[in-house]
Amino acid sequence: MPGWAKCPKSVARQAFRQVREWIGAEQNQTGIAEIHGGSLFSYDHLLSQVSASLRAEGMIAAEAQIVAQAMVDAQRDESFSHGIYRLLGVIRSMREKPTWGRNEPKIRRVAPGIVLADAADSFAPYAFHLAMPILVEAARSQGIAALAIRNCLHLSALWPEVEPLAREGLSALAMTPNHAWMAPAGGTRPVFGTNPIAFSWPRPGRAPFVFDFATSEIARGEIELHRREGKAAVPGWGLDADGNATNDPAAILAGAMLPFGGHKGSALAAMVELLAASLVGDLLSRDALAEDGGEGLAPRHGEIVIAFDLARFATGATVDGSAAAEAMFADIAAQGARLPGDRRYAARARSEELGIWVSDALLADISTLTGTEWGRSAPDDFQHQNKRSATSPG
Ligand code: NDP
Repeated sequence: MPGWAKCPKSVARQAFRQVREWIGAEQNQTGIAEIHGGSLFSYDHLLSQVSASLRAEGMIAAEAQIVAQAMVDAQRDESFSHGIYRLLGVIRSMREKPTWGRNEPKIRRVAPGIVLADAADSFAPYAFHLAMPILVEAARSQGIAALAIRNCLHLSALWPEVEPLAREGLSALAMTPNHAWMAPAGGTRPVFGTNPIAFSWPRPGRAPFVFDFATSEIARGEIELHRREGKAAVPGWGLDADGNATNDPAAILAGAMLPFGGHKGSALAAMVELLAASLVGDLLSRDALAEDGGEGLAPRHGEIVIAFDLARFATGATVDGSAAAEAMFADIAAQGARLPGDRRYAARARSEELGIWVSDALLADISTLTGTEWGRSAPDDFQHQNKRSATSPG
């Protein structure tokens, strides 16, 4: 399906560059700026539209607000694969499953350092949102704590979870399985999901260090994009259904993706299955895929988030770990390398200045699916309510 979620990010960046000069003059008159192939929304306006679309499908209001926020935050940071595009998958899933997105998660602390969230078929960001204060308290009191989420629906990125934890002064690690699309290194058939891993580290007076990536060589959506455009896949992306290396994207989609870094990515993907499925007591990616039964709905499984309290770990230390980390980051930057997270933060600043860009193609898809047209922001809304969410810097 066409949509900006699968367009190269460089295209979106170019679009922003093209409007940078004139948008200031136009936004006062129209409230929402129309740019090449898309529109710019204020944060609040986009949030209210997405949230309303979810409520219209029967999602409980509190969950709709949080799930919408996760998508708008990703759109704002130009993490398009997990931005507003995901609304389509959430709505399709809710229409097929009448209980999904309509139950309150149950959160309890089962040990001083373990928080257990039964998401009860709610979407992961909502279960995380409800559990996060308890996780933060547990990490501060115990030095380290884990949140085990079960029975959640997962269509989101992980950085929106580890970044707010870092803003609370905690380092965090998050992992989740999904549907088994990926073969182990040396294997021929899918066993693992594309199993993302995200990590955050708090930085004094700076936006946190955050990385968040799948353990596959390339995103599944990227392979799909190559298939649609008739382009060859890059060697190493995947295998055909017989387990042979191929550069045919359609054959890979019907066969198996491959992990990044050969046996190293393969082992990391296995670790995600073990910690975020077996340990938390929920489905492995292969079982989650089997449960889906080919319907192609939101993956339903678990997640694990581990939080570390830097101050407690520093007890009695003679080395200032935070200062040493800053020196390491400075060394990275001094070499002309960038830190993971820097692109997102730059995109966030741009979106907060200019508005959040959504492609016409995606808006049309949403309109077709929901039967509604999203309204335009009023000028004041655009100018003054482009406000920051929990993952905004500063
Ligand atoms: P990428 O391969 O694009 O890697 C993204 C990470 O690497 C980001 O932290 C990014 O920082 C950083 N990065 C990229 N380029 C550089 C560079 N040159 N120097 C330093 N850092 C760099 O991500 P994926 O396609 O693997 O994953 C994208 C998203 O998809 C993730 O958010 C992940 O959670 C999500 N996902 C979710 C799944 C699920 O089941 N829920 C399954 C698979 C993926 P920056 O953001 O600043 O560019």
